[in-house]
Amino acid sequence: MEITHIEHIGIAVKNMEEAIKYYEGVLGFKCYLVEEVRTQKTKTAFFMVGQTKIELLESTDQLGPIGRFIEAKGEGIHHIAFAVNNLQDSLKEVATKGVQLIDTEPKRGSDNLNIAFLHPKSTRGVLTELCEKIEK
Ligand code: ZN
Repeated sequence: MEITHIEHIGIAVKNMEEAIKYYEGVLGFKCYLVEEVRTQKTKTAFFMVGQTKIELLESTDQLGPIGRFIEAKGEGIHHIAFAVNNLQDSLKEVATKGVQLIDTEPKRGSDNLNIAFLHPKSTRGVLTELCEKIEK
């Protein structure tokens, strides 16, 4: 597996509008995309920081993954996402190394990415996403 860079850092927020005000008004980033991911029951917002992004995640449903995360831990860093060249092969490779997969197959994420999550039990407590750009 070849990880090319940190694609994004996912941050769970309670209120997307308020969070965007902070990231734009205080940190000076520009939000370039807001997108809803229905299957994940989340709304996402993206900011470029060099070649890495910040991904804000707001739950659209208290029982969705982000809703449950905020309920248990409050707002904060939710996951780290690494860009790989071949997501399917990378998943197979980490699985053979004993990593438990949340997603055994790539699924469609926000911002033109295919993504898959690795279980934090297998990744020293860090929810880890592997992703690859969808070629247009
Ligand atoms: Zn992500």
